[in-house]
Amino acid sequence: MSSGESMAVTISRIVRGSFAEKKRINAGDKLISINGNSINDVLDYRFYLNEKKLVLALETAEGKSKLVLIRKGEFEDIGLEFETYLMDKQRSCKNKCIFCFIDQLPKGLRKSLYFKDDDSRLSFLFGNYITLTNLTDSEAERIIRMHISPVNVSVQTMNPELRVKMMANPKAGESLKYLKRFADAGIALNTQLVLCPGINDGAELERSLDELSQLYPAVQSIAAVPVGLSEHREGLYPLEPYTKETAGEVIDIIDRFNEKFRKTHGEIIAYAADEFYLKAQREMPDEDYYNGFPQLENGVGMWALLKSEFESALSEFTLTELDRKVTVVTGEAAYPLIKELAESAEKKIKGLTVQVVPAKNRLLGSMITVSGLLCGADIAAAVEGLDMGEELIIPPNCLRSEGDMFLDDMTVEELSDKLGIRVTQNGSSGEDLLSALTGGI
Ligand code: SF4
Repeated sequence: MSSGESMAVTISRIVRGSFAEKKRINAGDKLISINGNSINDVLDYRFYLNEKKLVLALETAEGKSKLVLIRKGEFEDIGLEFETYLMDKQRSCKNKCIFCFIDQLPKGLRKSLYFKDDDSRLSFLFGNYITLTNLTDSEAERIIRMHISPVNVSVQTMNPELRVKMMANPKAGESLKYLKRFADAGIALNTQLVLCPGINDGAELERSLDELSQLYPAVQSIAAVPVGLSEHREGLYPLEPYTKETAGEVIDIIDRFNEKFRKTHGEIIAYAADEFYLKAQREMPDEDYYNGFPQLENGVGMWALLKSEFESALSEFTLTELDRKVTVVTGEAAYPLIKELAESAEKKIKGLTVQVVPAKNRLLGSMITVSGLLCGADIAAAVEGLDMGEELIIPPNCLRSEGDMFLDDMTVEELSDKLGIRVTQNGSSGEDLLSALTGGI
């Protein structure tokens, strides 16, 4: 977020038929201000763009000033595009967290994977989690003034000294003050606690839950997520993985907290990620438990949601016969669920054969069992030598956002050529999974 001096942002493209084109704004012009408010980044732009009447101050490529008046509907776009989405450099994080997953990536992957983002603007725009450690007072004020909500925060612990230690950043403790400031201003907060056994769980977890709950109703949800440990941890802080017992203790603490919280507020706000239930070998809660799934991106309730969506799609599926064999590859964590769902589809639809194959993560190591971090080579190795039928279905979240490439840079086409089979990516819902299994019928 640019603070202090104002700077102009260069327009890179004008959308055809837009207000901007009609008003003869050109690519290469610089946008200086809207209604007298200087525009430094995408948040300023989005915020001031909402008015119905806009006076844009611009500077042409030749250095001439011009003013443009636009009358439009509230929230209507005017058709300007900028070189980078943020209109400014992306902010990287200033922490050195002991559990950072980026530090645990093997060398040699594509450069963008090593970028440590901690940009509050991406939190508002895409839901990324931020730590608040690189936020300044004036930026916090801007968030409050614009009433940007919700803000997603990686809290880890409400103990300031412990937070400093865990994030290896002297500002990590004092920056917790922004939580209270945002809560007082009525900004909603979704929070996450990345738990490391013996460090911020146990009594520390109880303290964090208690202090975060004091900021209710601004704090809408608290997700406890277990630390992810790859095999590439040479020279990093020694961390243990969760075991059946320690994962069970986390669930117990959260259950006790929720029970108390529900008595006062009539609902629950803390959730253990699905991975804790798998580790603890406890039954996963059903969908009613998750209160609208506020923390799905953190792997909280994904299991319950997929199951219920799939079951309801299957109950409405009318075809009872189909001549089709497919293979679904998935991470080791989701394997039991996908297998169960596939079997229920086979039972209902005669002639449908679904082979479900769990893939080991060879790039990051055996402790990483989520499907989203599988790479092309992992999938190829998992299905090698198998009769896959007519199609190989890969998990929904293992390609980069452009949808073309795995973590190891292998493309979907390359995987398909290598295996000699059609490869399709499954969508993320239960309906999508049933549709993939049945070939879109
Ligand atoms: S905030 Fe911590 S975990 Fe996130 S990228 Fe930075 S160092 Fe890594």
